[in-house]
Amino acid sequence: MENSPVISMTGLIGPTIMLVFAIGFIWVWCVDRRHLHSAILAIACALFGLALLSQVLQWPAGIGPNALFSGFLYTLAVVLASVGILRRAGKRLGFAFGVLLIAAIMISLWYFAYVQPNLLARIYVQNFGYGAILLLVALRILPSRNTGRADHVLFWVLLAFALHFFPRTLLTAKRSLPTLAMAPGDSLFWQTLQLSLSVMGAALALTVLATILTDVMKELRQDRDLDGLTGVLNRRGFEETADRHLKSRRRAPLALIVCDLDHFKQINDTLGHHVGDAALKAFGNMLRKCARSSDIVGRIGGEEFALLLPHTDLAGARDLAERLRSALSSNTHSIHQRDVRLSASFGVALKNADDNLATLLMRADRLLYDAKQAGRDQIVSDPAPPSYGSDAGAVPSSPAPST
Ligand code: GH3
Ligand code: MG
Ligand code: MG
Repeated sequence: MENSPVISMTGLIGPTIMLVFAIGFIWVWCVDRRHLHSAILAIACALFGLALLSQVLQWPAGIGPNALFSGFLYTLAVVLASVGILRRAGKRLGFAFGVLLIAAIMISLWYFAYVQPNLLARIYVQNFGYGAILLLVALRILPSRNTGRADHVLFWVLLAFALHFFPRTLLTAKRSLPTLAMAPGDSLFWQTLQLSLSVMGAALALTVLATILTDVMKELRQDRDLDGLTGVLNRRGFEETADRHLKSRRRAPLALIVCDLDHFKQINDTLGHHVGDAALKAFGNMLRKCARSSDIVGRIGGEEFALLLPHTDLAGARDLAERLRSALSSNTHSIHQRDVRLSASFGVALKNADDNLATLLMRADRLLYDAKQAGRDQIVSDPAPPSYGSDAGAVPSSPAPST
């Protein structure tokens, strides 16, 4: 990354692109302040653009000052980009390590600019240094099978950007040395450098920006679909997820439990709304803990919840409902320093061949209503198929069956 006395309009393309990306990252940060890494990446892009500009405009003048000034901006930009990319992945670069990297590159640049002037050494220090730092970052965000597609794309683009520093520098720097020393702007090294930094830098910035936008959209969708109080899906999220599941696996056995806390209004009226809220939260936690990762749990009304259980027959669903019922009603719950007794009624329905979500919910709701009518703290299920046993309907509230 050496000085060019040739100032051309095309040299302004790179800095302008970086400025546009800086604005893009700041924009995302303004929309969703949870993503501090967007602001860090905006600064990295702006610094990278300024570094390119300082070389194109030859400011500050003179080989030494320009090499050190642009070198500092480039180095800070690469370290901040690394911090931003790592933070997005929930990782840290470490403040001391970042300062150490900047100091090591800057001291080397100063040494090869003033103590033992050596243009090729400065080129190697910067290009190999940045390549190595970005390679390290790429390896730390190595995607696994569970990571999303955006993370895979980001990893490969970052890896390509990191690796390109090595062959490009080795292939062009030495060959261009005579012209670099005289008029670097015309040299093969300078031109491939400008092209690669502008094109690949822009590709990397675009990928990171797209990845962060994907994160933001995912989080907004989660905010939209999750119930803030209990942490389970809200009605909209439950219906959308359950409907998708039902449509994609039409033939698999599937059961639905709908449950409703008993006499909940009384809890609000006697102990206060805040105790009612805490009780809902505790019940939501219990449902999440008892459910498998493939089960779909939602709060579909004020104190009414639903669990869609894939690959579960009536016996399995009734067992789960009974575990929940007895765990709730056989203990008192300590909520806001008060001992609160809670119970719930359950309706359990098995999906028929021609059921859709609406009909399945309606049947489970009707069974829940029957459980309320039967005295609450009860489970009422669809009639069991002949192989399951002769009993159907209400499961007595005591004793708790084992699972
Ligand atoms: P039942 O056994 O028949 O279900 O009686 P219930 O009192 O539970 O049912 P009802 O429909 O009469 O009252 C439900 C109560 O749930 C009324 C409402 O204030 C309360 N509720 C609904 N959403 C919330 C909430 O988010 N927080 C609190 N604290 N209470 C809520
Ligand atoms: Mg109720
Ligand atoms: Mg209700």
